[in-house]
Amino acid sequence: MRLADKVALITGAASGIGKETASLFAQEGAKIVAVDLNDYDGEKTVSEVNSAGGDAIYVNANVSKSSDCEHMVKAAEEKYGKLNVMFNNAGIMDSRDDNAQVTEEDVWDLTMAINLKGVFLGCKFGIPAMQRSGGGSIINTASFVGIMGAATPQVAYTASKGGVISLTRELAVIHARENIRVNALCPGPLRTELLMKFLDTEAKKQRRLVHIPMGRFGEAKEMAKAALFLASDESSYTTGAEFVVDGGITSAYVTPE
Ligand code: NAD
Repeated sequence: MRLADKVALITGAASGIGKETASLFAQEGAKIVAVDLNDYDGEKTVSEVNSAGGDAIYVNANVSKSSDCEHMVKAAEEKYGKLNVMFNNAGIMDSRDDNAQVTEEDVWDLTMAINLKGVFLGCKFGIPAMQRSGGGSIINTASFVGIMGAATPQVAYTASKGGVISLTRELAVIHARENIRVNALCPGPLRTELLMKFLDTEAKKQRRLVHIPMGRFGEAKEMAKAALFLASDESSYTTGAEFVVDGGITSAYVTPE
């Protein structure tokens, strides 16, 4: 098993990438601390993991709140004695996010608070726990738009993901000699709740699909497999990376007319 004896904390574990990752990491031997705001679906993730023979607990935390992030890391150490893997994955894409003129400050602030500050706070409390555990792997979910920009204006989201990539790079350098690796997972467009609720007609989906060389959306399961590589010791020489898993979209990006 690729994560035997590891303890992994996953934020946004109630849905999409986080949920699939909780399941895959557990199959690979990790003990799972599943974190979300959505208690109903978060508990569901945990009961599915446990009924499949895994070992998981659910912790309610809002990643944009310092005290909640401190609490989720503490919960991991109290229950399982250590923290080896931290997947800072929770994120939002607000439907009111647009260009700079139209986007309201509250949309900007909320997006930054969850997508960027949430990752910072995860690292703020997760890194000391990893130092106590003798090292570990941090995976921060960014996006291909943090590298390329988005075809449909969503300035707060894109800026937040650019911030995640820069933060990741700097933390990777700071902690490289402490056996703590920090990488940014940059998914392409996925067939998860987050994106599909915006691309809610076939025409809208097709407009995005023409840009993806593989001609399809990615699956949350495919991100979980990439996260597994970054979490495991197989990626022992990988740190500070923008780990792009995007069906080729960043190699063939064109602006629609
Ligand atoms: P999702 O909406 O299915 O899951 C996100 C989860 O995060 C939800 O369970 C939600 O309850 C949780 N969450 C939201 N705000 C939170 C908060 N403040 N505290 C704790 N939990 C919170 O979305 P997904 O597609 O699985 O997205 C996961 C990550 O991947 C996000 O960071 C997203 O930006 C990123 N991403 C998604 C896509 C895509 O196309 N879906 C592409 C690139 C990057």
